[in-house]
Amino acid sequence: MENLLKDILKTCYPYTGQGKVANYIPQLAKADVTEFGISVMTEDGVIHNAGDSDKKFTMQSIVKPMILLMALLDQGEECVRRLVGVEATGKPFDAFNYSDQALKSEHINPMINTGSIALCTLIKGETYLEKFNRLLELTRKMADNPSLEIDRDVYLSEKETGNKNRALAYMLKAYGMLHDDVEEVLDCYFRACSISVTSVDLAKIGFTLANRGKNLQTGEQMFPEKYARDINAVLMTCGMYDGSGEFALNVGVPAKSGVGGGIMAIVPHRMGIGMYSPALDGKGNSVAGIKALEMLSEHLDLSIF
Ligand code: GLN
Repeated sequence: MENLLKDILKTCYPYTGQGKVANYIPQLAKADVTEFGISVMTEDGVIHNAGDSDKKFTMQSIVKPMILLMALLDQGEECVRRLVGVEATGKPFDAFNYSDQALKSEHINPMINTGSIALCTLIKGETYLEKFNRLLELTRKMADNPSLEIDRDVYLSEKETGNKNRALAYMLKAYGMLHDDVEEVLDCYFRACSISVTSVDLAKIGFTLANRGKNLQTGEQMFPEKYARDINAVLMTCGMYDGSGEFALNVGVPAKSGVGGGIMAIVPHRMGIGMYSPALDGKGNSVAGIKALEMLSEHLDLSIF
């Protein structure tokens, strides 16, 4: 497996220079585009790495499935479904994709910014910091890594410049879908996006979703199987934003990308995969990361279709 991963990185390396790092969050523009890493956790619990698997980057939107899971655990499915829909929008992750009609839950899904910001309000906690800390604990547990922390520079950078997210949050408020203070809700969202991980962490988190919520080592059912199935289904249709259809054809597994350059892919019952390469395509997905996943899927016949 290690040799296969090394070969894939080598073949896909030219693609690391083909995209652009995210620069709308100034701190992310400092990423080194030559960094390229992959980690795969297989069903025997072994983690296989190649390249820069020890490099840290921020989760960004890869935290969205965690926010969805936390909201499901805290409030149940009915409450979550009242606030957000599950249909793919086919639009960019931060689009104001609403014509002149009133914004309704069915217009948004948990993997676009609007849906994820709304879901932060469903997490239990006296304050938004407490809500965030509970989310961080869940993420640490799924990654089996108690040392996960936020990258403060990225958090502050996004907090300072995240006006599009402010606009989206105020739009939710205008349509009665968000009741709390916008800055407090966004503080939780920005912190969540700034959780710093490696590709190994993503492979482990992905594996818990692939294994339907069950920790392989301890046998503990960390969250209901049904939630894992639902999250994987939403990731299949919306996880790569307006690139989800193409990704379904070429890779064929649920996955989530983030503008930090990470991708977490879930091969149900078989694997959790973490990728890192910070240069992005126009949709905010890692160019080399997608190429590497395409090759891996072809080699190991990973597509669920
Ligand atoms: N923090 C980023 C934002 O809200 C996350 C977006 C992404 O990773 N696609 O803009």
